[in-house]
Amino acid sequence: MTPILSQCPLLVVGAGIMGSGIAQVAAQAGHPVLLFDMRDGAAAEARARLAATLDGLAAKGKLTAEAAQAAMSRIRPIGTLAEARDARLVVEAIVERIEAKRELFRQLEELVAADAVFASNTSSISITAMANGLKHPGRLVGMHFFNPVPVMKLVEVISGLSTEPVVAEAVFQLSLAWGKAPVHARSTPGFIVNRIARPYYAEALALLQERAAEPQVLDACFRAAGFRMGPCELMDLIGHDTNFAVTSSVYEANFYDKRYMPSLVQRELVDGGLLGRKSGRGFYTYPAGVPALPAPPCERPAPALRVTVHGQDAIGDMLEEAAGSALAPMGQIPARQRDDGWTGLDIDGARLVLTEGAPAFEVAAVMGVADLAVFDRPAALSGSADRSLAYAVNAGAGAGWRAQAPAWLRLLGFLPLPVADTPGLVVARTLAMLINEAADAVLQGVCTPEAADAAMRLGVNYPAGPFEWLQAWSGPGVARVVDALDSAYRGERYRLSPWLRRADHRASVP
Ligand code: NAD
Repeated sequence: MTPILSQCPLLVVGAGIMGSGIAQVAAQAGHPVLLFDMRDGAAAEARARLAATLDGLAAKGKLTAEAAQAAMSRIRPIGTLAEARDARLVVEAIVERIEAKRELFRQLEELVAADAVFASNTSSISITAMANGLKHPGRLVGMHFFNPVPVMKLVEVISGLSTEPVVAEAVFQLSLAWGKAPVHARSTPGFIVNRIARPYYAEALALLQERAAEPQVLDACFRAAGFRMGPCELMDLIGHDTNFAVTSSVYEANFYDKRYMPSLVQRELVDGGLLGRKSGRGFYTYPAGVPALPAPPCERPAPALRVTVHGQDAIGDMLEEAAGSALAPMGQIPARQRDDGWTGLDIDGARLVLTEGAPAFEVAAVMGVADLAVFDRPAALSGSADRSLAYAVNAGAGAGWRAQAPAWLRLLGFLPLPVADTPGLVVARTLAMLINEAADAVLQGVCTPEAADAAMRLGVNYPAGPFEWLQAWSGPGVARVVDALDSAYRGERYRLSPWLRRADHRASVP
């Protein structure tokens, strides 16, 4: 039978950052909340902080004074677990150590009713492992909130091998009743968000390790692609110690699969105490933060006799429109060639080519064109005003084309940022790897594509979900980019998800 959790008496264990937030949300939703912490006085202090928070919300008009008062009256700090016998739901937000969590649930089993639900807010521990040893392991479920709890909508409802489906469903429904956006997930390392997000950091760190670009260049490219923060500024905000610990735990939990290997670049920052904002220095120095980018080239391209836009995809259409407006004052109209297998511009025989994953020197060799530059995927989904775009010129190009390539990108409306001739440049490789990771999560039954999209939008504020990117991906497929990375690096990190290989095959069959 589905446990009825609506407005049931609730015990929150752990009155730290997460436990206090969970207590606030539950109390505002009408639950009587008991708050327990092993440190004497911690629960009472948390309640006092919550009183100030709720008063503040009332003062700003976000809550009526009566509602704030009613929520506060529902939160009661307790000094012993024995006072929580009547709780029907326990949400655990204590220290992230499996033994401590197991011991707590074993104690609680002796106290509360046999059908009370146990929910853990763990960010990384297996729910299956945590339930091992309980008398009723089916009652334990993951209820993974995001920080700050009252603000972040996402809740990952995580089922271990023993979790009863009715228990997961009851916590899912409860999260909805609390105004959250829950998604179901199977208990696997990193669950949904902390797993699928790994490439966002890993690709930036890999590019920094091979000295492809400065952190501020990478961040600008991602902001232009619609992300609120680039990966380097985000890692500085999260703290390199925390980010490194999460990556390391996902890596270890996956039996040291190279796909999740942490970065030496980040370990050096951690070892040096350069933890980001909290220590005053990480990639950037604070309070100054992200430095300004170098001024873009202001040179205009030399007049061309013939400009042809290639590609039958949406990016080809976008380039045609941009080239059309840029050339109109000169009385020129670009030609369009849709079906010769690449996207970009041919300018009197020199080429600007949208990346398909291969570096410019390889594309130049295959096309037999020395004056060639490869550029990153321009944002199609973001509508961002920032038009930063990474590009790399073929090493064998003439000096004239080195200056002309960015001038043409500028004329098309981009802010061209030179990076090393690295496979898949910056945004294309990262989006492809995020999609690839999400595809493997779906393949392994961790979540549905819809849950992955919702989780990445709501848990880490991505401008779109990985399957939305896949849907909107025009031009050469994501699989082509991942395969090109795989052949360039020849490791295990860039192996293509079989799910994506199948999807790519289906898309190519007429
Ligand atoms: P925190 O350090 O702010 O709070 C933990 C509290 O638990 C402390 O007050 C501590 O005294 C208490 N505590 C520790 N062991 C206890 C025990 N055995 N019994 C009772 N109380 C105990 O930590 P937090 O950031 O709130 O994290 C709590 C949990 O939530 C962890 O499992 C963490 O992984 C998870 N989580 C944290 C975040 C985040 O951003 N901080 C996000 C999602 C999940």
